[in-house]
Amino acid sequence: MPEADIERICRQHSLPLTAQRRIVLQALSLRPTHPTVDDLWSDVRQAMPEISRTTVYRILETFAHLGVIRKVGHPDSAARYESRTSRHHHLLCLQCGRMEDLDDASLDTIRLPGLKTGFQIEDYSIQFRGLCSRCSAPAKPRLKRRKTAGRTKA
Ligand SMILES: [Zn+2]
Ligand SMILES: [Zn+2]
Repeated sequence: MPEADIERICRQHSLPLTAQRRIVLQALSLRPTHPTVDDLWSDVRQAMPEISRTTVYRILETFAHLGVIRKVGHPDSAARYESRTSRHHHLLCLQCGRMEDLDDASLDTIRLPGLKTGFQIEDYSIQFRGLCSRCSAPAKPRLKRRKTAGRTKA
C-alpha cells in the first residue's frame, strides 16, 4: 500500500498515523496471501522488535472495522486479513491452509436469494475448499543423497 494511501486513510478516519499503523498496513499489503496476526507480527517485528502482538491485532481490527482492510476467516482457523477490499473469492487449501484469491466474473453476478427474514445482503464472497497445486501434486520421488565416499574432487 503506497505511503500516500496510508496517510489518506488515516486522515479520512481521523486516526493519527503512527509508525505502528504504517508498518502494519505496509506489511499486510506486501503479503497477498491473507496473513494471520501471527504472520504479520513476525513480519513487523523485524523492523520494530518492540511491537506487541496485541498492538498488531488492535491495528488490524481497527482498520478492518473501518473497512480499509478485510478480515477473512474460516472455521477452525485463525482470522486472516487482506488489504484488498473489492469483491473477490477465495480458494482454501484444506491441507496446508493456503488461501488464494479467485477472480471470476460469473461469480460476481449470481442471483441473490430473496430473503423473507428481513436480512439484507450487502456483499458476498465465495470460498472454494480443496487442495492447492502444491498439495495435490503427486509426491516427487526423493532423490537419495549418495555418499561419495572414497571420491574426492580436486
Ligand atoms: Zn495446500
Ligand atoms: Zn482475498
